[in-house]
Amino acid sequence: MHYMLKKRIISLIFPTRCPVCSEVIFPHEDFCGKCRGEITPYTSKNSISGADSFTAAFEYNGKISPAIILLKQGVKGNAVYALGKALAKSLENNGISQKIDVIIPVPLYKSDKRQRGFNQAELIAKEVGRQLKIDVSADTVEKIRKTKAQKTLTQKERKVNLKNAFEVKFPEKIKGKRVLLIDDVCTTGSTLSNISRILRNSDAAEIHCAVCCKTPSIKKEVDVND
Ligand SMILES: [Zn+2]
Repeated sequence: MHYMLKKRIISLIFPTRCPVCSEVIFPHEDFCGKCRGEITPYTSKNSISGADSFTAAFEYNGKISPAIILLKQGVKGNAVYALGKALAKSLENNGISQKIDVIIPVPLYKSDKRQRGFNQAELIAKEVGRQLKIDVSADTVEKIRKTKAQKTLTQKERKVNLKNAFEVKFPEKIKGKRVLLIDDVCTTGSTLSNISRILRNSDAAEIHCAVCCKTPSIKKEVDVND
């Protein structure tokens, strides 16, 4: 069934809600008008070591955080749709979406994914892929060991923490391809940088990184992993 038709039918029983303030909105809407006016679009410039570009939809702050919390809780609300739509739009606006062959979400370690029941980066990747009509490959990169939360570590410890944490399982799927690596939130950029490097080693032609939210560069205490 067509995605929007399905969304409209579901909304008759479970009204679509703004993922920030839970106000009832139309099924095709992402946020309510009030919240849309208050969330901060990402306008800073940032780069990820080893990647060709970096895109973020929003600045991570207290206004957008309820939507990220809903996303991480896997609540079947409007968070995936709203955040995915915003990121797809940002990627269209900066001209990246037109030059991507495959989307890869930042993977979770197997037992973490089992425990949570889903990978939030994969949910966003699939929504962005659906909106931009780009294939998503969730099994190409695997997280092969558990790591500590990056925000708790020093810069040196972060490097050691991520060393050999990710592996390209199917190099043939990215060889010569322009890859878009997607995560929900980016704080230090070390995870994206680490995966970008292994994608490059597997002969990806281009590596572009995109996240729903980027935390401000000035270190702040935020409720995210890395
Ligand atoms: Zn709202």
